[in-house]
Amino acid sequence: MRYGYYCEECEEAAWPVSTRSELDWLLRREHIVREVARHVQNGLDSWMSEALEFLEHHRGHAVLLTRKN
Ligand SMILES: [Zn+2]
Repeated sequence: MRYGYYCEECEEAAWPVSTRSELDWLLRREHIVREVARHVQNGLDSWMSEALEFLEHHRGHAVLLTRKN
């Protein structure tokens, strides 16, 4: 099972390579992760960057956690 984000308005999905709990955590605390990202010199894990990019693109839209086999 893989987990990812799905935007209901655009009908687009992203599948950053991470666990369900990590993706859920980032979705709920996006603002904190962005704050931390500004102070991280070596960059974020790639799944985090990918996740934030998707959330940025779909700001204000209804983004849900989704899954696929
Ligand atoms: Zn969207």
